[in-house]
Amino acid sequence: MRIVVLAGGIGGARFLRGLKRAVPDADVTVIGNTGDDIHLFGLKVCPDLDTVMYTLGGGINEEQGWGRTDETFHLKEELAAYGVGPEWFGLGDRDFATHIVRTQMLGAGYPLSAVTEALCDRWKPGVRLIPMTDDRVETHVAVTLPDDGSAEGPGERRAIHFQEYWVRLRASVPAEAVVPVGAEQAKPAPGVLEAIAEADVILFPPSNPVVSVGTILAVPGIREAIADAGVPVIGLSPIIGDAPVRGMADKVLAAVGVESTAPAVAEHYGSGLLDGWLVDTVDAGCVERVEAAGIRCRAVPLMMTDVDAAARMAREALTLAEEVRAV
Ligand code: GDP
Ligand code: CA
Repeated sequence: MRIVVLAGGIGGARFLRGLKRAVPDADVTVIGNTGDDIHLFGLKVCPDLDTVMYTLGGGINEEQGWGRTDETFHLKEELAAYGVGPEWFGLGDRDFATHIVRTQMLGAGYPLSAVTEALCDRWKPGVRLIPMTDDRVETHVAVTLPDDGSAEGPGERRAIHFQEYWVRLRASVPAEAVVPVGAEQAKPAPGVLEAIAEADVILFPPSNPVVSVGTILAVPGIREAIADAGVPVIGLSPIIGDAPVRGMADKVLAAVGVESTAPAVAEHYGSGLLDGWLVDTVDAGCVERVEAAGIRCRAVPLMMTDVDAAARMAREALTLAEEVRAV
């Protein structure tokens, strides 16, 4: 079975680990979000690709859900001693090595997709991990700056990098707009459209619908290829009981005018894209509303408390795919 998954960071990676356990022999291609990518200290950092790679490769910091296990921060401290920041982005010593190798290879002329493949040679994630595009796409968030004592703002409207909004500001001010800068000119990376065309099933894990899955869908050609693939497209809700399970997805959903509920996210994707949608059992009351929107819906436990729980979710998604296929 060939499975394509569009993934962000933590939600995508944890689901993928469950999927690997549920169907170890499946051929899984992951299309990773690169809208969160950022240049720091002259290095190219790809947070979502690395979260998937480290999680599936056994190098992730489990409690945090991102970054390396057994990490130290000497390099960051030394940079800070020179007054070189930003200090708000937590890059550890082990993690730095990944970004150095990536930046070196990009500088030598390799596209990000080839670099990602090379990094995965070490981590052996057991899936084919492809960035959504080799072109530069950067998610920006329009905000009105708070009065945080800094030289900038307050009251000034500015577009800031998504990481600055998410990590530095902790989404503490409303996101007025979310823009994947560069997406319109971007081309899907080699292998992306081919994997979609050859898939038996396409899954949207419980990743952020706006800044993870939404950004991937913003690369021209990807949304169309999924809609035209003619195979079941099944999503799992990252929203449980009207709130994101972790993180601040409600802030970016508000920016695109979508309420933070499981059915609203399904309607946001729409029946043109989604064939099936899994909501948590606490949201069982919304199944009818989702089905009224033309999307087959089931309520099952959606908390990824451990790998087995994530594996059960993956099996439920594949079962729903077979139900859709049988219609
Ligand atoms: P990020 O790039 O690290 O933010 O990760 P993703 O975009 O892949 O996933 C973030 C989303 O995962 C958040 O909106 C969370 O609500 C969701 N999430 C995290 N853990 C769980 C879980 O156990 N169950 C479900 N259903 N969603 C989860
Ligand atoms: Ca992310």
